[in-house]
Amino acid sequence: MSTETTLCVSEIFHSIQGESSFAGWPCAFVRLAGCGHGCRYCDTAYAEEAGTAMTVEQIVRRALAFEAPCVEVTGGEPLLQPGAFELLSTLCDHHPAVLLETGGFLPVERVDPRVHAIIDIKAPSSGVAAENCATNFALALDTPERFEFKIVVASREDYEWAKSYIAGHDLPGKCSIIFGPVFGHLEPRLLAEWILRDRLPVRMQLQLHKYIWNPDARGV
Ligand code: SF4
Repeated sequence: MSTETTLCVSEIFHSIQGESSFAGWPCAFVRLAGCGHGCRYCDTAYAEEAGTAMTVEQIVRRALAFEAPCVEVTGGEPLLQPGAFELLSTLCDHHPAVLLETGGFLPVERVDPRVHAIIDIKAPSSGVAAENCATNFALALDTPERFEFKIVVASREDYEWAKSYIAGHDLPGKCSIIFGPVFGHLEPRLLAEWILRDRLPVRMQLQLHKYIWNPDARGV
């Protein structure tokens, strides 16, 4: 590792992966600072704070020191920082399971193809559904094994919208799609009933970390 590229880091920590198809695995998290997207149910608003400048080399060393089976770069919105692409590639050079969690409003085409990208699709109650980046869907349909989409649902209206939206982009049955309830806003049982009633080919998830730790805690 020789890179001096610098990124602004909110926190680096070791926890149980709470979401995605990797849920349940111990994971090293690199949370990059900054987003500005303003989603209504954002649970990491503290990542908007300035953060600490660290080189790619420092970040990678810290993350690898946890010896976790997976490493995730998250935010904030990690792809807002130009150095994020180099960080992801460098992590891939040293670890077999590198994940990216992105808010879904930026294209992921420059992300190293070794990365498994978890891309949010924002539903209307987030307030930013108009900003979902549709070009990511074509890329995911070409190489579905590299991607999964996550939709956080706060209401029946969100659910109906999400159902139509994924069908409109031809995703069901072709890409991995995960629906989850907004913690504290939608009863998981209701979402489960809707998915089952509609025979929807999506996975359902609960945010595992919010059940293990204090749901308002940082660094989990
Ligand atoms: S994209 Fe993610 S980090 Fe940014 S405001 Fe939305 S939920 Fe929060």
